[in-house]
Amino acid sequence: MKLIYSTVVRTPKIKPLICFTIISMVLVTIASQLEIFALGVITKGDSVVHTAKSGNFIDTVISQLSEVMPVTKSLFNLAIFLVFVALFKATTLFLFRFNTKKIAILVSKDLRLRFFEHIQTLPMSFYQKHNIGSLSSRVVNDSYVIAESINSCLVNYLQTPFTVLTTLTLCFLTSWQLSLIMFIGFPLIVFPIFFIARRIKKISREILNNQEHFLSVLIDFISGIQTVKVFSMEDFSLKKYVEQNDKLADLERRSARYDVSSRPVVHMIGMSFLATALIYGLYIQKMEISEVVFFCGLLYVFYEPIKKFAEENNRIQRGLAAAERLHEVLNQKNHQEDSKNAQTLTSFEKAIEFKDVWFKYEDQWVLKGLDLKVEKGQTVAIVGPTGAGKSTIAQLIPRLYDVNKGEITIDDTPITTLTQKSLREHIAFVPQKSFLFIDTISTNISFGKTILTEKIEAASQRAHADEFIRRLPKGYKTVLSEAGKDLSGGQQQRLTIARALVKEAPILVMDEATSSLDVVSENHIKLAIQQLKGEMTQIIIAHRLSTIEGADKIVVIDDGRKVAEGTKEELLKSCLQFQMMWQTMHQANEPVGV
Ligand code: ADP
Repeated sequence: MKLIYSTVVRTPKIKPLICFTIISMVLVTIASQLEIFALGVITKGDSVVHTAKSGNFIDTVISQLSEVMPVTKSLFNLAIFLVFVALFKATTLFLFRFNTKKIAILVSKDLRLRFFEHIQTLPMSFYQKHNIGSLSSRVVNDSYVIAESINSCLVNYLQTPFTVLTTLTLCFLTSWQLSLIMFIGFPLIVFPIFFIARRIKKISREILNNQEHFLSVLIDFISGIQTVKVFSMEDFSLKKYVEQNDKLADLERRSARYDVSSRPVVHMIGMSFLATALIYGLYIQKMEISEVVFFCGLLYVFYEPIKKFAEENNRIQRGLAAAERLHEVLNQKNHQEDSKNAQTLTSFEKAIEFKDVWFKYEDQWVLKGLDLKVEKGQTVAIVGPTGAGKSTIAQLIPRLYDVNKGEITIDDTPITTLTQKSLREHIAFVPQKSFLFIDTISTNISFGKTILTEKIEAASQRAHADEFIRRLPKGYKTVLSEAGKDLSGGQQQRLTIARALVKEAPILVMDEATSSLDVVSENHIKLAIQQLKGEMTQIIIAHRLSTIEGADKIVVIDDGRKVAEGTKEELLKSCLQFQMMWQTMHQANEPVGV
């Protein structure tokens, strides 16, 4: 409960809304009791004024009320009174419900925002452990379930106790003997509510976890639909999907069983006590029918919110399970935060150096004591077999991961002592897999920054992208589809190179994805790299050797270690591994190290 409470109070601008909700809730409860009171007035009719002397609570109030507002004097007055009560209840109920919904919407909006803001700050290691299905299910599903439960919490934890207490007071004022019966009934009702709630919370957690797997399977197969089709894997993917779907339905069935059983159980117990109170009042206490009817009305007002509580409590338990899951992510600490006295990198003047760098993602060392120096203005290509650690090197420069041993420096300053923002501002990064989103080509290149059209076009020309962009029906204004899937691999990569160039950062790190490129695109990228030579410091992870011919230095990596370095000519003479890679590429025209 604490989690839900802290989630609500942390939401900005929520306090006035909560106050307003409490006021409207008090008014709803008064309206409900006015309804019962109206019932009492009807059953008493004209006799009330004369029996007022009996000292009974309802009689006393009705007789006093009739002095101020003569509702009991005529049927017309009574009708007006009833309409007034109905209107009052409808208005206050609307206000109360609307406010609780507004609170839930605000909280859910804030949770989604906090979640996204937070996960953006978390390091890449966090994304190793959480897949897209897991994260999207938490942000979409869990925040909705929490909001729903907040709605129920407001109704139940505010309105129910208030209604129960005020009704109980009225009951005691009417007949303390009958009220005692209600007291006995109360724990008998509460026990099943809490028993059922505990089961629901457990199942809800299982359901939410299962929804996560379900979504992951769905995302996996939709994103790999091309492979699914080519391999005729439809039956296999359907089987996996059905497995998850069945599991989900099974859990939902179990949850529904508890869900629907709470209200009937509470209803049965409540009604038993109502009947007992009726019999006791009429035959043992010898109360008047009108009094017993009034009392039963109060009993109804008393039990109804409890019955609703039982039902809504299930929703609350689901919210609690979701809140726990969401907070697992929100409470994740960023282990890669800037240190307090981190410096701002203002320029790049000399060199980037890897000094005895050791790195592992999980248990196995990927880089084993790597030394590497890239001087300002140099174009350095990193080559080696698949899995040697080339892409890892590229990712360590902008600090997507932190090294485990050794250090990486820029102009002799360890990058861990720099603010990550200033470090990354100096690096233009072209990842192996292009990231494009649904928006215009211009926005994809400028990445949301305000950049002059001329600059965007100039960068595209240098990335050899301008030509194909202009051929598109709307040119730079063409809206790309999801992940730029309406472009070829080569076009996608040229757009990401244009994005890197428009950044005008002094260091370009390019994790080449030449494997997906046709010869023409490959040549375009080769040209772009050559034209940038000397102007930017380039670190090119070459999965194929064709693009690195003009590099100032080639570093051969194998199994996380540097095997050799030098110019192409030097390496062809001195490094057997490089000679083999070179020959393989030229003879078989096969990709090397991909
Ligand atoms: P290369 O670019 O030379 O092909 P990588 O740097 O991509 O090699 O990978 C080096 C090693 O690190 C490989 O064994 C690979 O399986 C492992 N690896 C790469 N990325 C991850 C990751 N995100 N999580 C765990 N292991 C990884």
